Parts: sequence; C-alpha cells; structure tokens
Amino acid sequence: MKAPVLKVDTLCKSFGGVHAIRDLSFEVREAEILGLIGPNGSGKSTTVNSLAGIFAITSGKITLGDAQIDGLPEYARVAQGLARTFQTASTFSEFTVREQVLLGSNVTRTSHPLSSVFGIGRKADEDAALEERVAHILEITNLKPVEHARVGTISSAQQRFLMIATALASDPKVILLDEPAAGLVSHERKTLSELIKSIRALGVSVLVIEHHMALIMDVSDRIVVLNFGQKIAEGTPEEIRNNPVVIDAYLGEAA
Ligand code: ADP
Ligand code: MG
Repeated sequence: MKAPVLKVDTLCKSFGGVHAIRDLSFEVREAEILGLIGPNGSGKSTTVNSLAGIFAITSGKITLGDAQIDGLPEYARVAQGLARTFQTASTFSEFTVREQVLLGSNVTRTSHPLSSVFGIGRKADEDAALEERVAHILEITNLKPVEHARVGTISSAQQRFLMIATALASDPKVILLDEPAAGLVSHERKTLSELIKSIRALGVSVLVIEHHMALIMDVSDRIVVLNFGQKIAEGTPEEIRNNPVVIDAYLGEAA
C-alpha cells in the first residue's frame, strides 16, 4: 500500500449549531486520486475548505507529509505543498496564460512574487528547471496553443484548466479540486479526466469532488462518500458503485 501524504483525523467543523462535518477521518496516499462524493450539503466543500485553511476547524488534526498543518494560514499550507483551485477566474487578467502559470510557481520562493515574470534575482539553473516545469504543465493542461494569449481572452474551459495549471506550478504534493467539471461539456470533461490522470503521473496526489459520476468513477483510485457530514463508505469505484448504503444515500438519487 502506498504511504499516506495527507491525513485527516477526526475532523469536526460546525457553523454555529450546524455540524457540517463530524469525526471525519481519511487519507490521500502518494500519487493517488481520491474522489470525495456525497449529496448536496453533505460537507464536501467544507472538507476542502478546512484542508485549504479557508476557515478554522472546530476540532481534529490535518497532517501533510510530516507537518501538522491545521493551524497554518492558507498561504503557508500552499507553501507546504497543498494546492487548490479557486471557483472565480483569475484576477490577473492582463497577464498572458504563461505569465499566470509562472506566478503560481512563486509561492514556494523567497524572491519577489513577480520575479519569474520579470526575470529578477534568480539563477540560470533555477530558470531552466522552472521553464521545463511550466512547459510540461502547459502541455498536460492543453494550454500550449494559447500560452501567449491574455488570460481574459481564453474560453471558460481554458480558464478552468489554467487554474489547475497555476495550482500545479506551485509544485504541490496534493492538489484539491472542488467540482472541476462544473460547466464543462462532454469533450471538455474527457480532457479533464486525462488531465487529472496526468497530474497523478507527475507524482502529485489529487483530492477531487465531483458530481459527474462517470468522471469520478473513471479517474478515482479510491472514493470516500459523505452523508450528513460523516463518512458512510470508502473503497474502490467498483466497491462504491455496488455499496447498498451508498446507493441508498446518494447513487440512487444521482442515477
Ligand atoms: P457540499 O459541498 O457537500 O454540498 P457543504 O460543505 O457546502 O456541502 O455544506 C455542508 C453543510 O454546512 C450544509 O448544511 C451547509 O449549509 C453548511 N455550511 C457550509 N458552509 C457554511 C458557512 N460558511 N456558514 C454556515 N453554514 C455553512
Ligand atoms: Mg460544495
């Protein structure tokens, strides 16, 4: 069995009297795609937001590699190797696609945040390694043809892939994707599936929330199912598909 990279241990998150997540434990393993599914309101986004540090958890423990990260602010978690995508489009719409991806690489750097865009204060070997990584990321996200286009001019599907590319540029151990297929048409979802598998091939673990069952069953190595803020099942796509508890709580409704 592969080693765990991200560990969630008896996580609880309440909003006032609402227990959005209760005693949730699971792990994301090395170069694994873990799907997180469940009905609306079951606590999926709350889980991702708790991991990313959008808000403080009520209790529990989150570990990334050897580091306990639940007390860290959002940017520090990114620097530790936890990347996420945002629902909103980029705010740097005057940048080109390539510049935007380069910006994503800077969270792990101590130099000026715009140094990779403007080429200030870095060594040539760092430049070469970064160039290579950015080229590979543009390749797997299908953004190579538009690398010199302004972010504001590309399609919404391309913007979505760009967010994933920007997150990947931070060289994460784990990437969190909350409903990446929302608004994508069938052929774009197919491209997204391939991209998620390419991320795993890079050695990066993926936690993906998705309503498109075909996509989640296709990409996931394992799936965790939430209902009313609690884990009701965990297993391979095949096990989840045939689990009567899951069919009753979720898949029956989805099908
Ligand atoms: P999902 O992503 O699975 O649809 P959420 O994590 O968004 O579910 O929501 C889980 C529960 O927590 C819901 O009952 C929701 O109303 C509640 N909730 C989520 N975010 C907040 C918030 N910021 N303030 C109050 N309640 C919230
Ligand atoms: Mg949600």
